[in-house]
Amino acid sequence: MDKRSDAQARRCPSSTALKFGDVQVAGRARMYPVELALRVHAAWVMMARYLAEQRGLAREQQPAWLDDGMMARRKGSMGGLRIGHGYDVHRLVEGRPCIIGGVDIPHERGLLGHSDADVLAHALADALLGAARAGDIGALFPDTDPAFAGADSLVLLGRAMAHIRQLGFELLDADCTIACQEPKITPHRDAMRKNLAAALGVELDQIGVKATTTEGLGWEGEGAGIGAWAVCILEKR
Ligand code: MG
Repeated sequence: MDKRSDAQARRCPSSTALKFGDVQVAGRARMYPVELALRVHAAWVMMARYLAEQRGLAREQQPAWLDDGMMARRKGSMGGLRIGHGYDVHRLVEGRPCIIGGVDIPHERGLLGHSDADVLAHALADALLGAARAGDIGALFPDTDPAFAGADSLVLLGRAMAHIRQLGFELLDADCTIACQEPKITPHRDAMRKNLAAALGVELDQIGVKATTTEGLGWEGEGAGIGAWAVCILEKR
């Protein structure tokens, strides 16, 4: 054994050959302790699932960690978690209110749209609907429907969340970014978070809002419009 492989062997002391089911806990090749621990954990989950099945326990009677453990992830499952992403843009024009995250921001121009054009609420609603594989805000609240003319987008956001809860999902966390040169967003950020959390029926800490300029670049930088992005994580209950 040369110097290099000898040093590697000291760092990777385990070489025990052990198999449990189709999970090789340790093979002939040496492995790092962390990898060994992960394999032992996988074997433990498999053994616990096997014993539960032998005892005739239904899936819902089995411990939750059996579904959320390593074996579930090994099979490509997110263990009931879903990720969603939303993006929206509205044009800035004169003679309209500038409502973002439910806050009516004093500004010489506002956002153009069929509803109140709350770009942040729309992006977040699309993230939620995307995570639940429930379409998008345009399908749920068509901009051709007169019923939604001038609608409060926080109300629409709350209705989207109710729809998602009916599908069996709950919101764990969401984060949003607004891109615009003007108006200044930071002074209104906490009020936006509060409005969004209240509309969704979640804790304030579960909603993040931040803003960025684009250093004068692009249509956001030129003030032609405002864009918003949102990501969220839902859990199937
Ligand atoms: Mg929109």
